[in-house]
Amino acid sequence: MNSKTEAFKNLPSVDKLLQSEILGLLIVRVGHESVKLEARSQLESLRSRIAEADESVLQWVGSEGFLDDFCSAVQVSIEGAFSSSLVPVINLTGTVVHTNLGRARLPLEAIAAIQLAATQTTNLEYDLETGTRGDRDSHIESKLCNITGAEAATVVNNNAAAVLLVLNSLAFNKEVLISRGELVEIGGAFRIPDVMKSAGCTLKEIGTTNRTHLRDYESALSDQTALLMKVHTSNYEIRGFVNSVSESELSELAGSNELPFVSDLGSGTLVDLEQFGLPHETTVQESLQMGADIVTFSGDKLLGGPQAGIIVGRADLIRKIKANPLKRALRVDKITLAALAEVINLYQDSRRLSSRLPLLVDLTRPLKEIEAVAAQLLPIVQAAVQNKAKVVTNSCQSQIGSGSLPLDLVPSVALEITPVAEKGQTDAMLIGLALAFRKLPKPVIGRIHDGKLIFDLRCLTDSEEFEHQLTELDIVV
Ligand SMILES: *Cc1c(COP(=O)(O)O)cnc(C)c1O
Repeated sequence: MNSKTEAFKNLPSVDKLLQSEILGLLIVRVGHESVKLEARSQLESLRSRIAEADESVLQWVGSEGFLDDFCSAVQVSIEGAFSSSLVPVINLTGTVVHTNLGRARLPLEAIAAIQLAATQTTNLEYDLETGTRGDRDSHIESKLCNITGAEAATVVNNNAAAVLLVLNSLAFNKEVLISRGELVEIGGAFRIPDVMKSAGCTLKEIGTTNRTHLRDYESALSDQTALLMKVHTSNYEIRGFVNSVSESELSELAGSNELPFVSDLGSGTLVDLEQFGLPHETTVQESLQMGADIVTFSGDKLLGGPQAGIIVGRADLIRKIKANPLKRALRVDKITLAALAEVINLYQDSRRLSSRLPLLVDLTRPLKEIEAVAAQLLPIVQAAVQNKAKVVTNSCQSQIGSGSLPLDLVPSVALEITPVAEKGQTDAMLIGLALAFRKLPKPVIGRIHDGKLIFDLRCLTDSEEFEHQLTELDIVV
């Protein structure tokens, strides 16, 4: 074994390390400075362990493979720091538009547009006709107006931002009337009463949780009222003794008092989903026809595009909204605009839509096709989990998700994996199974329900990829 003195003497200099083949190649990839800093910091910690006479270090330093081993350690650490933590996963949760899994996948047309906008300078805010400053909304405003029939449109970062901006622009320091049954929490920190406060508006709650009548709105009107608002209660449903006021009635009441009526659709869609055999969702067009002066909706929910918040409606109101300094803070970037424009283009031809828009491809996948995938994968997954679980196929219901009605379900097929374990061990086995699938090279995310790990196969786009990586399944319980 080396003595401490010998070990110190055997430590290479930073310069010598940087001349090694391993670190030389790394420098080409990530630059001289970061490699130098990491090599120096690892040498430092080695020095202090030598000073403590750490036996394993004393043995290692000066051993035959030391230099290569040390350089490899530097490489692993740097590659770890440079690697991305945002990775693709396989969504078998049964929720098609899953907020935690990034919502909609984009169509190829949008990806091509993103590449152009990202790699080249563009006329993002430049009017090629006049040679003067332009408006970034111009790239999508007319497209949105053509499709929805709205007079004007603008786009911001997401629908939460759209609601905030609309309220702040049209109702700052004033009252907004909204039904008690619509004071929703969408998830995360988006709660209507909180957004109202952030926007500088006073929420005036109307009616009761289950029943709200037109007369409730009428009696709440005052000279402090700035607007009437309807929020689509997208993630829950109240049933039984219920009443809400229709959009047409609210718009009439607002109109006769010269107030705007704003509708937050949340999961806005631009086509009637029934033509694809899906449950009906109020479209943006319908909402405008029923008299909404402003409609807000998400770009990455049922629309199937990039994260964005879209605001359409009356030209005078949109002008006010665009003049608000908050608009500048909430604006979308060129990448989003490029993608969104292409997604909206697809809506010009609804026959093309269901084969081009990944969201609709997933939602309209024929049951027969999912059944076939399930039958084919059943023995393979059973073999992969060995005797640790029993796998069966079963029919299930996929949720559209992300703010479409919770009752909007689409029939699908799942693999159900039930742990086989000693009594008292089944929960641990279930968690171990789910973890093992999440640790695959392309993590597989299912859903645990009723003591089973459930894989809804509706969104499995590449079953070969899924199958091939199962050799690496490592169930540790
Ligand atoms: C989802 C949703 C929002 C928030 O939209 P994001 O695009 O997620 O910011 C707001 N209102 C309603 C009704 C929603 O469903």
